[in-house]
Amino acid sequence: MINIKDLHKSYNMGSNSLHVLKGINFSVSEGELVAIMGSSGSGKSTLLNIIGMLDNYDKGSYELDSILIKDLDETKAANYRNKFLGFVFQSFNLINYKSAVDNVILPLYYQGIKRKEREKTALDYLDNVGLKNWASHLPSELSGGQKQRVAIARAMVSKPKVLLADEPTGALDSNTSTEVMSLIQKINNSGKTILVVTHEEDIAKMCKRIVKLKDGIIVEDKKINQKVL
Ligand code: ADP
Ligand code: MG
Repeated sequence: MINIKDLHKSYNMGSNSLHVLKGINFSVSEGELVAIMGSSGSGKSTLLNIIGMLDNYDKGSYELDSILIKDLDETKAANYRNKFLGFVFQSFNLINYKSAVDNVILPLYYQGIKRKEREKTALDYLDNVGLKNWASHLPSELSGGQKQRVAIARAMVSKPKVLLADEPTGALDSNTSTEVMSLIQKINNSGKTILVVTHEEDIAKMCKRIVKLKDGIIVEDKKINQKVL
């Protein structure tokens, strides 16, 4: 599903260059649930953003579903992104003036689906995350855990091949984090490939494989006995 070879990435700021990813080799098969771990600044988000086609890389190769993702123009990148990838972020990134259901509907606008069907699909996805009764509520009326579940429903509604989550529990207390991870496990158990960036060991243990980054290099990559929630 994901195939990365000798990937390098630097950020250039004026005359300074910061070498952030220094030769990443990493593959993910369909159905995996992978935790990308590492301390702050180790390059986790940079790697996830490259996998999510939100950023480019300098050297090496990245294939997604056997397609080489390199120097794509923005239209093509946006197309692949919509077709292949779902995103979940620490800060939820919901639209504050739209209801839960309207947030989930959003990705369907761009797919030429009729209004009634969009609404029904979005409600089904909210139901899947246990929030059917909260459909008409604004994000400000939801708890952090509920907001993240709306964000997960929104990420799933376009049926991505891969779900990418950058510190999805980073803004949540530990009980709520477990709830969100339980939902992520449920989605993974239905066959979805999922990558979760986290710096918390407890969260990583709820995945099936841990990849540790340190200073832009993978220092450990192991399958684990998942803590099933
Ligand atoms: P992590 O997610 O593991 O905390 P990041 O991938 O966000 O790490 O960042 C890795 C390094 O790259 C950090 O030193 C960070 O300051 C730097 N960095 C991240 N994004 C940018 C950017 N857009 N421009 C310049 N430096 C950046
Ligand atoms: Mg980060």
